[in-house]
Amino acid sequence: MKAEIIAVGSELLLGEIANTNAQYLSEWLASCGIDVHYHSVVGDNEARMTDVFKQAQARADLLVITGGLGPTEDDLTKEVLAKLLGRRLQLDEAAYDRIEGFLKTRGRTMTENEKKQALVIDGADVLSNDVGLAPGMSLKTGEHQYILLPGVPREMKQIIADHFGHLFGRETIQSRTLRFFGIGESALNDRLTDLIRSSQNPSIAPYAELAEVRLRLTAKAAEERVATEMLDQLEKHVLAEVGQYFYGYGETSLPEVVLQTCEQAGLTLAAAESLTGGAFAGGLTDINGASQSFRGSAVVYDDAAKINLLGVDEKLLQAKTAVSQEVAVAMAEGARKRYGADLAIALTGEAGPSSNSGKAVGTVYCALATPNGTEVVEFTYPAFDRGMIRLRSVKDAYFLLLKYLKKNVNESNGV
Ligand code: ATP
Ligand code: MG
Repeated sequence: MKAEIIAVGSELLLGEIANTNAQYLSEWLASCGIDVHYHSVVGDNEARMTDVFKQAQARADLLVITGGLGPTEDDLTKEVLAKLLGRRLQLDEAAYDRIEGFLKTRGRTMTENEKKQALVIDGADVLSNDVGLAPGMSLKTGEHQYILLPGVPREMKQIIADHFGHLFGRETIQSRTLRFFGIGESALNDRLTDLIRSSQNPSIAPYAELAEVRLRLTAKAAEERVATEMLDQLEKHVLAEVGQYFYGYGETSLPEVVLQTCEQAGLTLAAAESLTGGAFAGGLTDINGASQSFRGSAVVYDDAAKINLLGVDEKLLQAKTAVSQEVAVAMAEGARKRYGADLAIALTGEAGPSSNSGKAVGTVYCALATPNGTEVVEFTYPAFDRGMIRLRSVKDAYFLLLKYLKKNVNESNGV
C-alpha cells in the first residue's frame, strides 16, 4: 500500500506553522508498515486542493488528509473531496449532538458554521473526536482509501489512537545498523552486490561516514519476532562476506567497543601519541567510565619528550628518525611500562603538509605493545590532508587494538 499525506492550510504555506502533522503521520504509517511516497501541502483553495487530491489519487492508494475540517469558511477539505468523488455531505447525528451539548454548556445556540462541523461525506465511517468538535472520516472507494483528520495536532493524534491500530493489520518495520571500519563504501558495495540486489525485504542500505561505513538492514513483517529473525538471517549473510570489518551495532563507536572489550577481558590500556597529539586518548575519554581500563596517554610530540617521558633511546631516534617502525615500537613499550598497562598503542607519523623526517606525508607507524610482544604496522594515507591523516590514524589504531583483543580474548578469555 502506497500512501500520500496531504496537509491542508494556507498558514503552512505562509510559514506561520511547521507541518508537524505530516511528520507524525509519517511515523505512524511507517509503524503500520505502510510506505509513504509523498507529502503534499496545499492552501485553503478549492481549485488547488482539487488538483492536489487528483494528483494523489494517481500515485497513492491511501490518502491521509489533515486540516480544514473546522467551522470556518476556509475549512474546505470535506467539501472539496466530496465534490471530487461525486458524493453528498450529510449530517452525522452523534457529531451534531456533541456540538449542541458543547454549546449548551456555554449558553449558546448553534450557528450554520458550527453545524457544518457535523457534516460528513456520504458513505464514510465517522471517526469520533473526543477532544474537539469536528469528527474525522475514513472512506473506502473502489481504488482508494481516504482518511480525513482535523488539523489541530492534539485532535488528530487522539483520533488515530482511538480508531486505528486495528485497521492496517499489525505489520511492523524493524531496522538494525551494522558498523564497519577498514573498508570503503564502494568496496563494501562490491562485496555485497548480489546480496543488496536480491534483498528487498529485508533491505540493505549502505551509508558512508568519516572513514567508516554503516549498513542499515530493514525488515517488514507481520510480527516483531519474524522481523527480528529476518534481520538475524540477513546479518549472518552480510557478516559471512565482510565480517572481518564489522565492529558494532547502532550508535556504538570504535573507542566504545575497544573499552568494552578491554573491560570484559580485564585488561588496561595506555598510549603514546606523536602525530595525533592526544586524539586517541580524547576519543576514549569521551566515553563515560573510560577510567575502568584506560590509564593515560603521553603526548610526546618532539624527540626530547619521547626520550624523557618514555625512555626512547636517543641514538635510535637519530638513526631511524621519529617516523619509523623502531621508534613506534620503543614508544609503545615505553608507554606500557610507564603506565603499568597491559596494552599500549603508539602512533608516530607524518601528518603534513610538509615532511620533517624524510618519510612521505601520510606515512604513519602504529605499534601495539602487549604481554605477548609488540607488533607494528605501517599505515599510508597518500591522498589525505592533515586532519584526515590524524583522524584515520586514530581510528586505525582503535581497529588494530580491537583485532588483537578479539583474537586473543576470544582464544584464551584473557591474555
Ligand atoms: P479547526 O476546527 O481548529 O478549524 P481544522 O481541522 O479546520 O480545525 P485547521 O483549521 O487546518 O484545522 O488547523 C487548525 C490549527 O491546527 C492550525 O491553526 C494549526 O495550529 C494546527 N495545524 C493545522 N495543520 C497543521 C499541520 N499540518 N501541522 C501542525 N499543526 C497544524
Ligand atoms: Mg480550521
